[in-house]
Amino acid sequence: MDERRLESVCRECGKPLSFHAGETAPARCPDCFDGFLRLRDADFLSSYAELGVASRRIIAETSLRALVMESPPHRKVLAMHIMEQYVQAASDLVGLYHALQGRLHTPVMRAFLDFQLDRTSALAFFHEIRETPGPELLDRLLIPQQAHLARSLPSLSKRDVKDLDRAIHQMLIDLRKTVDMGETAALALAQMAGERRTGAALTNQSAWLDITGLRADQVAAIALDERRRTVSVTAISVDEKRLQTVVGAIDAMTRAAQNMIYAVLSVYQEEARSKALNTPSRARRRP
Ligand SMILES: [Zn+2]
Repeated sequence: MDERRLESVCRECGKPLSFHAGETAPARCPDCFDGFLRLRDADFLSSYAELGVASRRIIAETSLRALVMESPPHRKVLAMHIMEQYVQAASDLVGLYHALQGRLHTPVMRAFLDFQLDRTSALAFFHEIRETPGPELLDRLLIPQQAHLARSLPSLSKRDVKDLDRAIHQMLIDLRKTVDMGETAALALAQMAGERRTGAALTNQSAWLDITGLRADQVAAIALDERRRTVSVTAISVDEKRLQTVVGAIDAMTRAAQNMIYAVLSVYQEEARSKALNTPSRARRRP
């Protein structure tokens, strides 16, 4: 390994940066990178709300429509694919929830894109949403209380306040619906989170693993559990009604994320407006 240290400068503040020979020169110092991300958080959220957030739902709905027409083996592949969309939609929602909660400390884009759902964070999210009253959830997300929207966001028109009120109301309903899928879904979710090879590890039977066999209407994803030194099996039913519920949960999670972003963007907008209003007057007051 070449251990030489090389020097470059931050393209924002000009601070000298050193890096190892053979590495790519960093573009910015850590502080300027955070600032760079922060400036783009609002745009990132609105572009995510426009397209990315719905991608899991679109794929799940399309798979469910296709599943109805398919032969049994193909149905199983599509059923597992729908479950993967469920895990990913949940991972996105939990990541978004954490990123928005912590946005005063960490840029949203960083927290969201770095987020990895695991067993602990999946179960903690289910528990937190189930146990926390709506107003407190809003506090944690730094979203104004529904009763104080007009006062907290004075630049909104009456109509905008009404729309936002409705969006927050729907968001709280959808968050509850998400966790109402229950403990089983949370556990399946926790188990599947981080298992990246579900496609390759699909199985029709599990008796060969010394585990009780699957029912004919079930498919399973298998993964190594190195910690317990066993093979874990997540069984999924290919029953259409059951999958319809899963797609319904993906739909609720998608809507919850969209409305959460809508509320946070309203707060950002208000902050930007009041900054714009205050800056020139303060400048004028200065001698
Ligand atoms: Zn810098």
